[in-house]
Amino acid sequence: MATAIITGSARGIGAAIALRLAKDGYDIALNDIAESCFDNNDITDKIKALGVKCGIYIADVSNHDACADMVKKVKADFSSIDVLVNNAGITRDGLLARMSEENFDLVISVNQKSVFNMTKHAGAVMMKQRSGRIINLSSVAGVYGNAGQMNYSASKAAIIGMTKTTAKELGSRGITCNAVAPGFIETPMTAQLSDEMKTAILSQIALKRYGQVEEIAGVVSFLASPDASYVTGQVIEISGGLSM
Ligand code: NAP
Repeated sequence: MATAIITGSARGIGAAIALRLAKDGYDIALNDIAESCFDNNDITDKIKALGVKCGIYIADVSNHDACADMVKKVKADFSSIDVLVNNAGITRDGLLARMSEENFDLVISVNQKSVFNMTKHAGAVMMKQRSGRIINLSSVAGVYGNAGQMNYSASKAAIIGMTKTTAKELGSRGITCNAVAPGFIETPMTAQLSDEMKTAILSQIALKRYGQVEEIAGVVSFLASPDASYVTGQVIEISGGLSM
């Protein structure tokens, strides 16, 4: 049985990706930053009900050593790591003039350094296997920029560069690496936006609605599937036509 590890998967897009990959037949390694993220949360039960294995691995993905330990445990428990989804991410929005250095560094550390940490350690396992799929969560903010998100857009743009570098470095070992760039998806992260901002965003979306987490999970499922075996180093925007 193949195994997928999805960072930040207690809720939101990560949980939807975990559920979808479980439906696709993968054993699932869930990750989040604290045990409490899984309190009052039925994601493990839903995954196990699909007849696949599921484990929870608590780690702060911005911490290099914690990622090394987590990858080691997942490999020991499941014997292979076939798909890595670098999903964990945070926002600490604010206009540049008011953004603190602390909030800049924190977002870069959680969103960007985590991709280095996890790709390095899980990538080493995949290189030995001579196969693997790595899928990174970028954002339209990383492609086009977004006022109030200097830190977030920097991290998401960096992920695009890291995706292409990973594709080039690991391609000869049969490993693909792609990114998805969601637009505005209904999750706890976007629930924090003001009503004014939500209305402004909606007016720019061709499909005139926000995306659903399942619509991100479907594209990730494709990128992990045999149908995407010759797709690597690409960024797929999933934004309902936000930018055309
Ligand atoms: P979310 O609902 O906030 O979920 C993110 C998950 O990551 C949370 O469970 C969070 O735990 C966890 N996490 C945060 N820091 C972590 C760390 N250091 N180590 C491990 N886990 C950590 O966010 P989402 O909307 O599903 O977004 C998922 C990904 O998609 C993110 O990378 C985001 O940037 C990207 N994205 C989202 C949208 C959107 O519209 N929602 C658009 C474009 C891109 P806590 O609950 O403790 O914070």
